[in-house]
Amino acid sequence: MFDTSAREIQFAVEAVRQAAKVAQMVQAVPALAKADRSPVTVADFAAQAVAGRLLDERLPGETLVAEEGAAVLRLPENKPILDEVACYVGRLVDDATPDRVCAWIDRGDGTPVGRFWVMDPVDGTKGFLRGGQYAVALALVEDGQVRLGVVACPNLGRDTLPNFEWHGTLLAGVRGQGAWAASLNGSGDFIGVRVSNVDVLGKACLMRSVESGHTNVGQVDAFVAALGTVVPPIRMDSQAKYAVIASGGADLLCRFLSPEQPDYREKIWDQAAGCVVLEEAGGRVTDLDGNALDFTRGRTLAGNRGVLASNGRLHEAALEILSGLGY
Ligand code: AMP
Ligand code: MG
Repeated sequence: MFDTSAREIQFAVEAVRQAAKVAQMVQAVPALAKADRSPVTVADFAAQAVAGRLLDERLPGETLVAEEGAAVLRLPENKPILDEVACYVGRLVDDATPDRVCAWIDRGDGTPVGRFWVMDPVDGTKGFLRGGQYAVALALVEDGQVRLGVVACPNLGRDTLPNFEWHGTLLAGVRGQGAWAASLNGSGDFIGVRVSNVDVLGKACLMRSVESGHTNVGQVDAFVAALGTVVPPIRMDSQAKYAVIASGGADLLCRFLSPEQPDYREKIWDQAAGCVVLEEAGGRVTDLDGNALDFTRGRTLAGNRGVLASNGRLHEAALEILSGLGY
């Protein structure tokens, strides 16, 4: 049974549930383009705000490193967007004001050293905007080890994973204690999740990104061909991909470096929660060279090149294929 007695687990589950709830309320319209031209929505800000607020309430001394910042919302020309964010947050909590919402969002400007929480309020924003898969992801990192991770996938459930009876899934992984899933809406108990036992590459199902700009499509295609698999890949945005592998619905995932951004390094909030869920479900996560992901390098995985995630059994064989392809 999933032991939810620890304060950290209670906080993480509730923060992710609240953040997912507010994201689901927001009409999916792009609000702003960030400096790197990636979209950010009212949902990203509102979801981060409710989590920052709950951290202040439950674990006030703790550090949060989260994707968004409120500086852009404080610009006079963005006042209508800030008001909209505050309005959505106000539907969930009764003390929301624009100033407080900015302060709650900026709880996420912590420094990633020692013990810290790491959050992606809406991972897969493009999937969210498309009405596809997205995730709210929160993890606790301590001295480079991801201790616990909680991932909400509001659009993931029985359609993709027939062993789940619900639509909208919450997953949790606690280091040394297993991985669990439940209905996101809170009805019903957590059930244990486990990776598949597929152990031949020819039967492996690969999860791949929808966005071609987040990977190297040519390398993904060549990797699929080299696997010789008869199973068509599943395209999905966000850490929902890790959730599917953790639940036995697919077997492999790789993040290759986009040819347009060969120096891109993965953001810690895009990986931490999904990784611990998958590892605790029996899977394995490394970079493309087979090295462990190093969460001691700041806001990115500066010491790692790409990611390979698997059900565990296929990992070594997949690494050999990668090395054979020269990736
Ligand atoms: P996915 O849904 O798997 O395509 O990945 C979504 C995440 O990819 C987003 O949260 C972004 O932070 C991240 N991302 C943005 N640009 C890149 C890039 N050039 N390479 C890899 N990931 C990226
Ligand atoms: Mg993300």
